[in-house]
Amino acid sequence: MNIKIHRGQNQIGGSIIEASSKQARVFFDIGIELDEDKEIEIPQIEGLFYGSQNCDAVFISHYHSDHIGLADYLLPDIPVYIGEKAYKVMKAASDYRDIEVKFDPILIENEKIIEIKDIKITPILCDHSAFDSYMFLIEANGETTLYTGDFRANGRMDFDKLLEKVPCVDNLIIEGTTLSREDSIENIEEEKLEEIAVEFLNKYKGPVFIMMSAMNIDRVITVKNIAERTDRIFLEDIYTADITSAIGMTTANTRVFMTGGDKQYK
Ligand SMILES: [Zn+2]
Repeated sequence: MNIKIHRGQNQIGGSIIEASSKQARVFFDIGIELDEDKEIEIPQIEGLFYGSQNCDAVFISHYHSDHIGLADYLLPDIPVYIGEKAYKVMKAASDYRDIEVKFDPILIENEKIIEIKDIKITPILCDHSAFDSYMFLIEANGETTLYTGDFRANGRMDFDKLLEKVPCVDNLIIEGTTLSREDSIENIEEEKLEEIAVEFLNKYKGPVFIMMSAMNIDRVITVKNIAERTDRIFLEDIYTADITSAIGMTTANTRVFMTGGDKQYK
């Protein structure tokens, strides 16, 4: 198996990784670079973005644009694999902004193996601020590679269980955004954040406005819990509501109740 990192090695984001064997050519993530001032640069990868199509599949680890942002620029008829809920979040966000999603996804499931000719790919669900994110175990010709995508250990998902699942591999392509950071920013766990906010907000009355990413579903849950535990009504803006309802989340505050024809709020 040949592994080629087209982009993402000496920068944060914009990841594009290719795995090829005798029979198959598969890509993992097709991200845009994070620098918003920069014009979108489409890498000259033949068979993927230009020339005649020569790619068996593209796997998307998660919906952050530095991993999926070039999907619209793919040559036609390249199968794109992504998690179902990840796709739904991305689609809802695009619909809200009137942006067309140009690919029909093939949906992946946690630990359900997909064979692309002689390459075997196992998606492994992992925790990240993007919902429904995956690592990929890639196997071909008796060689194994793990591509981690982005991941973290401070969300609600059990990180130790994930580590137990991940096998020893020949090659590891690992996300390393914070490895070179000298300042030690504490990554607060979502549950701890909830406790801190509850303690703080219980001292005050009145509304609280929170600015956050609507696509960070784990954080939406944290905020909903905070609202409930501090006797507040949890309200989402329309964009957040579109995204959470797309994945079937019930975010109505359970403390809101109705009596007669009048709404009463506790
Ligand atoms: Zn990410």
